Amino acid sequence: MNDRLSAPARAFLAQNRRMLIGADWVDAQSGATLDAVNPADGQILTRFPAAQAEDVDRAVAAARAAFDGGDWPAMRPVERERMLHRLANLIEENADELAELESVDNGKSVLMARHGDMAMAVDFLRYMAGWATKIEGTTITPSVPYIPDMRFTAYTLREPVGVVGAIIPWNFPLLMAVWKIGPALASGCTVVLKPAEETSLTALRLGELVLEAGYPAGVVNVVTGLGHVAGAALSAHPGIDKVAFTGSTEVGKLVGKAAMENMTRVSLELGGKSPVIMLDDVDPAMAAQGAAMAIFFNHGQVCTAGSRLYVHKSRFDEVVGGLSAIADGMKLGSGLDPEAQMGPLVSAKQRDRVCGYIAQGIEAGARAAAGGGAADGAGFFVKPTVLVNTNPTMSVVREEIFGPVVVAMPFDDIDEVARLANDTIFGLGASIWSNNLRKVHRLVPKIKAGTVWINCHNVLDPALPFGGYKQSGLGREMGKAVFDMYTESKSVMMAL
Ligand code: NAP
Ligand code: MG
Repeated sequence: MNDRLSAPARAFLAQNRRMLIGADWVDAQSGATLDAVNPADGQILTRFPAAQAEDVDRAVAAARAAFDGGDWPAMRPVERERMLHRLANLIEENADELAELESVDNGKSVLMARHGDMAMAVDFLRYMAGWATKIEGTTITPSVPYIPDMRFTAYTLREPVGVVGAIIPWNFPLLMAVWKIGPALASGCTVVLKPAEETSLTALRLGELVLEAGYPAGVVNVVTGLGHVAGAALSAHPGIDKVAFTGSTEVGKLVGKAAMENMTRVSLELGGKSPVIMLDDVDPAMAAQGAAMAIFFNHGQVCTAGSRLYVHKSRFDEVVGGLSAIADGMKLGSGLDPEAQMGPLVSAKQRDRVCGYIAQGIEAGARAAAGGGAADGAGFFVKPTVLVNTNPTMSVVREEIFGPVVVAMPFDDIDEVARLANDTIFGLGASIWSNNLRKVHRLVPKIKAGTVWINCHNVLDPALPFGGYKQSGLGREMGKAVFDMYTESKSVMMAL
């Protein structure tokens, strides 16, 4: 594997890594470590610290010192903007190495990591950099009834919320890190970042770039470790002002409860079971391609993965047949293999979880029109799978699988498909495929989801708010909306 990596990526993996607290690279105080595993072959890439509560305490103290009276929140916004651009430039300059590290740590294609994850991370940071100078309050003319002779003027200030604890998942590791630190830094907050245990490497490399960019000590801290240890300590920490979490709905509920104990502000980007709706006018070949992209992108490990496919009954057989042929024809292989169309899942645990769902579905009467389980070999591969003959009570239809598994179901009319699409605890994304504008516009308001795509799926932009209805989360990331989550509003009333 290593001979396929560039010298910088090899050098990064050649030593055990430390985590970033203040300006120092440190081990966990206990000395405990975790293994970074390559999911394409199960080999250990390097080791990194397994932080515990005491390490989280140190990181929160460093972030607190950098916030309270520190240079960062007091810095002129235009200088913070410049610092964000500097970090974006460094990510861009090191994008090849970062993409390689992401690929071997997560399993995704190095090309996708380079031209998807890293390119988006750079654009996202540059977009957020521009907001540093544009965060603003309002002016108000009050009308106080009981002192009618007095006049007042009032205004609001948007102030950085403070120390942010960011907890992120493993599907887009560097991108998720940047989604959190971008708006936090633009608003003048400081951060303690806890990457996913499965994929901590690019967050640690990002920490190096933060120091190289010249950020003051403690503005960004990276603490690696287990979720139920380090993540739990961070979300329950009385020293943080906000938790920004992306991950499963199950853990999001724990994080939300822990945060609420201290009234810590909280934003939650959680799971999904996003419907893909193909109306009766779709071209079956294009629809099959669209459905394949919607579910198989990033091996189905996408919070908005199009994991429930609803096709009008007049097109069902053709679309599902085309999709199954695409699935059967996909070449599985390491993310470093340029021929491979799908890599391994992130871990053996995730592979077993996904295969467990497939088995449950088949046991309950579903049929695999393509795939149907794990692929042979040392890596954590699952065959791209299309399940038919499902019903709405099956776990494969109701629960987030987070792998390359789609359930395909026919429907008759748009009221029926709206009801089916909304028959879920989730509400993150949905897509509608049709050129019939009337039907599309009648359907969009019926769908309970934070994002509805039309004739595309999984397409995001830093300027477009992103988040979930229902149990898919709380709050919106991206766009101007994200600053509601990283600032406090202070009202100032002045008697004239
Ligand atoms: P996860 O198990 O919920 O983990 C997410 C993060 O939380 C990880 O850093 C994890 O650490 C940590 N964690 C685990 N237990 C914790 C606890 N008790 N307290 C605090 N933190 C804890 O999710 P995942 O399996 O990594 O990621 C997949 C999930 O993320 C899917 O459900 C997906 O839909 C969701 N997701 C949502 C979005 C969105 O924007 N809505 C985007 C991407 C992914 P460890 O890694 O050490 O366990
Ligand atoms: Mg790994």
